[in-house]
Amino acid sequence: MWNKLVENLRRRMTCIYAGIFAALILFVVAAAYAFIWWAILDHEKQGLVTQAHHEVEEWLNSGEAPCSNDAIRQGRMLAYFVGTDGKTVILDQLGSGPQGRAIGNHRNDWPREFNSTRLLRMHGVGEDVASRYRYLAAVVPVDRGGERIGSLYMFKNVEFYYTAAFNTLFKVLCVAAALFLAACFFGYWLAGRTILPVSRMYAKQQQFTADASHEMRTPLAVIRLAIKSLQEDEDSCYSDFAKESLAMIHDETLRMTRLTENLMELARSDQGALIAAMADVDMSELCRRAAKKLELVCAAKGQTLLTEIDGGLRIMGDEAALTRLLVILLDNASKYSPSGTAVTLRVAMQRGYLLMEVRDEGCGISDDDKKKVFDRFFRVDKARSRSQGGLGLGLSLAQAIGRQHHGSIKLLDNTPRGTIVQVLLPTNACG
Ligand code: ADP
Repeated sequence: MWNKLVENLRRRMTCIYAGIFAALILFVVAAAYAFIWWAILDHEKQGLVTQAHHEVEEWLNSGEAPCSNDAIRQGRMLAYFVGTDGKTVILDQLGSGPQGRAIGNHRNDWPREFNSTRLLRMHGVGEDVASRYRYLAAVVPVDRGGERIGSLYMFKNVEFYYTAAFNTLFKVLCVAAALFLAACFFGYWLAGRTILPVSRMYAKQQQFTADASHEMRTPLAVIRLAIKSLQEDEDSCYSDFAKESLAMIHDETLRMTRLTENLMELARSDQGALIAAMADVDMSELCRRAAKKLELVCAAKGQTLLTEIDGGLRIMGDEAALTRLLVILLDNASKYSPSGTAVTLRVAMQRGYLLMEVRDEGCGISDDDKKKVFDRFFRVDKARSRSQGGLGLGLSLAQAIGRQHHGSIKLLDNTPRGTIVQVLLPTNACG
């Protein structure tokens, strides 16, 4: 049980460490990628504006066109020179290729202000519609002799950067995934080391509880016997006060005995040793016997114990532990119900599992408390539970027994009032 808890805790801590690490890796990758991408694009934008100015100067001085034929054919660098009215085409270097046609078709997306740039993301046109193009566009003024004669648009293919960036991102993410896996292993190891001292301390505490409970058994038995002898000693004549005190000591000693027994059982359950031996158990017979025992307890409180137990139900389990589990549930049903009510025990097969259901018409358990009642020493109403002899350990013990049989316990509301406790046990449970 404790080992399972430690393992669960270790896994949870590993998930937290790995989650934090993954978030950090993703953040660093995203930030680095965005920063590098921004720096490249900024550099390209400035470069394209400078180049456009340079081409304007060359064209004015020597009449040399801004783009070479090779650049136009390959769609690397394209240019378009229009007059000040924006319509008169002075030089069209968009070419007849698909890229040039796509750029011409997206005229509305071209940059408007001089010396500014824009990133054009376009689909091809006509039969080329499936293709995607990415161009950086810049526009610069063309002035001759102090007079503006038009604007030069230059387009640079930046597809290469996108392909390179995507490939790099893919590789970086592969490395990040490998780092993440390494972080998971490291996190698991680190969680193990972190838990180790707590685990050792808990084991010591468990041992102490088990030893202390064991050591207290004999003195408590001696005290019980001594009180009984005193109470039955006919030669002594006790005052009423002494008799009352003896009865009180007797009751509290019984309570202490039950407490130490429960603590010992819980310590055993923590060590996974609650179940002594697994065997084929006749559950129909076991439930009938347990019900018979509890019938007297119910009758003493003016309650009726009803049973609906199917015959021939058998499971693999520990007979003593299973009896203990059922007695706890029936005892609780009686303890927390008023007189005149009925406690019902139903035992049947349900979807391949053995179902033990205890219904009462008592005070019920609120939804909030349903989560807490399995905690050790938790009691909804401490005073009431104590007056009924409750220690707050019954349901934790019942849950431990259920778990060691690979089963589960569920609490439901009974209508119009009361509680339904359902225990589901696999028929071939192994301890
Ligand atoms: P206890 O020895 O006090 O009965 P348990 O662990 O068996 O300890 O139960 C924990 C608490 O859950 C009890 O103190 C009681 O308040 C509540 N409880 C358990 N069973 C029932 C029930 N059938 N009806 C109402 N309350 C219940």
